[in-house]
Amino acid sequence: MSTSKKSLQIQKTYEALFALEDLREIFRQSLPAGFDEEEQEKFSGTVARIKSILADLENGSGKPACTRVGKLDARTREEEFINIHPIQAAGRLTPEARKAIISYGDGYSTCDYCRKPFRLDKITRPPIEEFHQDLAKFLNMDQARVVPGARRGFQAVTQSLLEKGDCVIVSSLAHYTEFLAVEVAGGIVKEVPLDDNNLITAEAVALKVEAVRKETEKLPKLIMIDHFDYQFANEHDVYGIAKVAREYDIPFLYNGAYTVGIKPVDGKKIGADFIVGSGHKSMAAAAPSGVLATTNEWAPRIFRTTEMIGDLTKRKFGVKEVENMGCTLMGATLLSMIASFPRVQERTKHWDEEVQKSNYFLEQFQRVLGSGILSETPRKHTLTKVDTTGSFDTVAKTHKRRGFFFSDELKERGIVGEFAGATRTWKLNTYGLTWAQVKHTADSILEIAGKYKLNIN
Ligand SMILES: *Cc1c(COP(=O)(O)O)cnc(C)c1O
Repeated sequence: MSTSKKSLQIQKTYEALFALEDLREIFRQSLPAGFDEEEQEKFSGTVARIKSILADLENGSGKPACTRVGKLDARTREEEFINIHPIQAAGRLTPEARKAIISYGDGYSTCDYCRKPFRLDKITRPPIEEFHQDLAKFLNMDQARVVPGARRGFQAVTQSLLEKGDCVIVSSLAHYTEFLAVEVAGGIVKEVPLDDNNLITAEAVALKVEAVRKETEKLPKLIMIDHFDYQFANEHDVYGIAKVAREYDIPFLYNGAYTVGIKPVDGKKIGADFIVGSGHKSMAAAAPSGVLATTNEWAPRIFRTTEMIGDLTKRKFGVKEVENMGCTLMGATLLSMIASFPRVQERTKHWDEEVQKSNYFLEQFQRVLGSGILSETPRKHTLTKVDTTGSFDTVAKTHKRRGFFFSDELKERGIVGEFAGATRTWKLNTYGLTWAQVKHTADSILEIAGKYKLNIN
């Protein structure tokens, strides 16, 4: 482990945070009136420990103490490194979310003031009901619910719409969770082929709808397309596709796993019947979290309430929504989402700059001869698939560490998140990096190329 000053200070920060939790526990174990003698002693001892950790923290001095929690190491990846991991970038928590998590970590913490009608999205303290309205407004849809991940949003829709054997149009770049959401509902996926530029066009969707109609003598029940796919993060024509869906009167699900929370998404303008987003991928929230938004037209179907009646007790639970299993995110996950939301709303206004940083980085990246971009260019997203078969992979061929030489070199320069060992095609995401971090990452790539005598433009 690196023993740099920064590393030690990060270590000390965790020690201090954990010691504060120990202090917090003393409050939790004491009587309302205050501490007894033993507790007072423990309290004073813990405060003294925190002060000494803080002194070490300030000076970057002292020895690292153990910050393992049982079998868990403290995760310091985001503090110690620049993380370009393709799926982690926009799910990094805001400081507000981290504070919400330590405050609301207890199990059913959202339920302190749950009153009739006893449903998560109706709770006013903390302001969960208001958050649901804000979410719908943010996406310019009529209604929204939080869900445990985008996948559960797809599932709520497929299970509401499909009967056994029904077809769903998806992209040839669809995420596996879209396949599973169709499968769990008894449906069948029908993939739209890509064009030569790895794009899904509205025309290709229309042709696939026709092909399904011809084959099954029925129209597909749903069209589900990613605005930006997870493989190339290419932008697909969701406006045109929504129009095709409307012409056939097939509902359209807009998969915003890689957009909602990082770039503006306007459901009405798109013409979407359903918008699905991922909290832990793109909304700076803890996992599992996400959003499902829809129109007033579809809401009664998707958010239908239970009609089940107990045969003995005659009990019924009228307001509980079936697809949401009544309530969804009941603790810190939801509160992390709510706490991050103001900053998330703000950051979508600066998407253009994020894309600029992505393009700047890739310009530098391509100065290494033999390095290329497999995604569409210029980039319209911060996630990109790159190809270094003609550059870093040529080094890997003879290096004793094989492909790992590249991750070793990056890590040495404080960069992690590329798929360790991969030097042919791999993905990276620059979302949320400062300009200084972007430049450092670009410079590091060039420096590594120089070190191994690759040609640089
Ligand atoms: C990540 C991703 C998902 C799954 O999102 P979860 O919130 O983890 O369920 C779905 N679709 C696409 C295109 C994705 O990139």
